[in-house]
Amino acid sequence: MLTTRAAVYVKHGNPLDVDEIELPDPGDEEVLVKLFASGICHSQLHQLHRPDHPTPALLGHEATGVVTAAGKSVTHVREGDRVIVTWIPRDATPETPRPARARYRFRGQDYDTLSYTWAEDVLVSEQLVVPLDPEVPVDVTAIIGCAVVTGVGAVIGTAKVQQGETVAVFGVGGVGLNVVAGAKIAGAGRIIAVDLDDEKLKFAEDLGATDLVNASKVNAVEAVQDLTNGGVDYAFDAIGREITMQQILEATRPGTLGVQHGGSAVLVGIPQGDVTLNARLFTPERTFRGSLGGSSHPMTDFAQYVAWFKQGALPLDKMVTRQYDSLDDINEGVRALEAGEILGRSIMVYARPD
Ligand SMILES: [Zn+2]
Repeated sequence: MLTTRAAVYVKHGNPLDVDEIELPDPGDEEVLVKLFASGICHSQLHQLHRPDHPTPALLGHEATGVVTAAGKSVTHVREGDRVIVTWIPRDATPETPRPARARYRFRGQDYDTLSYTWAEDVLVSEQLVVPLDPEVPVDVTAIIGCAVVTGVGAVIGTAKVQQGETVAVFGVGGVGLNVVAGAKIAGAGRIIAVDLDDEKLKFAEDLGATDLVNASKVNAVEAVQDLTNGGVDYAFDAIGREITMQQILEATRPGTLGVQHGGSAVLVGIPQGDVTLNARLFTPERTFRGSLGGSSHPMTDFAQYVAWFKQGALPLDKMVTRQYDSLDDINEGVRALEAGEILGRSIMVYARPD
């Protein structure tokens, strides 16, 4: 049994409680990880906004850490290894069981959840723990487990964008910037960033966007069509609002009968309600598809992201635009993200390697 600290979502509408939780000893397929750093992701804001979200709950799903104990069936990492904690099964096959739920005790009662990283230690299924190159910093790499894999993965893993193809990205926050970076790595011929905020657009340009569209000033769909002679090969929605889902469909190019299919709208953000799409836009062979976790296999893909980071192609240090020194800063971190103050991604650093 280990006592650690976590940010606990105790009651809807209240700040998170940074309080003690107790973790049992690892079962056969569980790994105990002392966390170095965790990102703060928009999907946790969605959880905090839901009055019907079950409580108490532990949140967060991207982190780095060091293995402090591993169950006897765990073979891919061992005590002392640096790791990434993610929410995507590391090596899923049709035979792989769903990751077992992460067990913890809070104020005398037992609970479980898929995973959490707003805590100083986590006991989690081995499926959600991926080895990390010990040579890279453990702070900025914390965003690989969600922001990077979701954004870069949507381009490389889901859409499979090819050299020279055109891309538009609607919403260039933490995930959208990773779509931009992924499109640059893929060699996209044009990378059009669309957002309501000039500062965010400027930042997207630093990461590889070739054209900037401020959707509060111009018609974003028309602007994308004008820049690309009728629409892009791929339009990504990193937000998941009705308006952006409609825009990505319309901003993709129509197909040419007998010559080529239409472009693809790729939904990366998580919609929070029902949405109406214009079905006539599908007739010229446009596609609308979702991307979850960048269709990734973390055991191979995360090593590739780290390699790109080391080469400078994936500038995680630039993408992390705010660092907090402690888990105690969590409520401030949530407030700042909510207020739109975070240009890229924010992280909390709990500890440094010895
Ligand atoms: Zn996330």
